[in-house]
Amino acid sequence: MPGKKRTRKGTGESKDIIVLDNVSKAYSTGAPALNGVSIKIRKGEFVFIVGDSGSGKSTLIKLLLRELTPTSGTIWVNGQDVGRLKHRKIPKFRRNLGIVFQDFRLLKDRNVYENVAFAQRIVQVPVREIKRNVPAILSTVGLAGKYKAKPKQLSGGEQQRVALARALINKPSILLADEPTGNLDPKNSWEIMKLLEEINQGGTTVLVVTHNREIVNAMKKRVVTMKKGVIVSDEEKGEYIDED
Ligand code: ADP
Ligand code: MG
Repeated sequence: MPGKKRTRKGTGESKDIIVLDNVSKAYSTGAPALNGVSIKIRKGEFVFIVGDSGSGKSTLIKLLLRELTPTSGTIWVNGQDVGRLKHRKIPKFRRNLGIVFQDFRLLKDRNVYENVAFAQRIVQVPVREIKRNVPAILSTVGLAGKYKAKPKQLSGGEQQRVALARALINKPSILLADEPTGNLDPKNSWEIMKLLEEINQGGTTVLVVTHNREIVNAMKKRVVTMKKGVIVSDEEKGEYIDED
């Protein structure tokens, strides 16, 4: 591949920003949470991951973040072999990943501005830049004017927007969202999903774990369906498949 950056192992930076090759993950108890999962996700894709509770979706997300390491198989993210990352390289690796969760995980005693600015402080962005970046990202997520609110003064939808702003402020190449609308009403769920779509249109690769059938069916994105630790379907412009 002339002109393409090659990684040490030669697997390569390529159009695939995430690659799982025969990945299994067993916890100490029970059946494996993932069992021989292989998948490729291209740079700039928007992918829904659906499946029953317990099918391994969150385990997959945690492996991508290097919160867990695989029992076997290989995971490449941004051209890096995630399972082999040295501990000291993990913080820098994670800087390239944004993550949002169902339960928002905001700092309760800090206001909106501080919750978002915090993500820049820990990577030592100069204060002057933080002061420029935070208002810009808050306006992107539709929260201009809420800087001083504390999380409990915000609706669930607003709290998730803060979490999104925090996930995005360091300009990650990949945004991971683990049931981001799980605690939201239908209107706010749609607004958050539309924001995720806009973020994707800006070039960020987006993976969304969700149970929201209506939204998945309406958005016509790639849909990966998991069941008991394996991928049972992977469709472009897919639909939510019933598991029973
Ligand atoms: P999902 O997100 O699709 O609901 P998970 O990835 O959370 O699924 O879980 C997959 C399987 O792994 C489930 O059977 C779950 O009980 C098990 N599991 C998840 N986390 C742990 C853990 N820390 N220790 C043991 N088993 C776990
Ligand atoms: Mg889960």
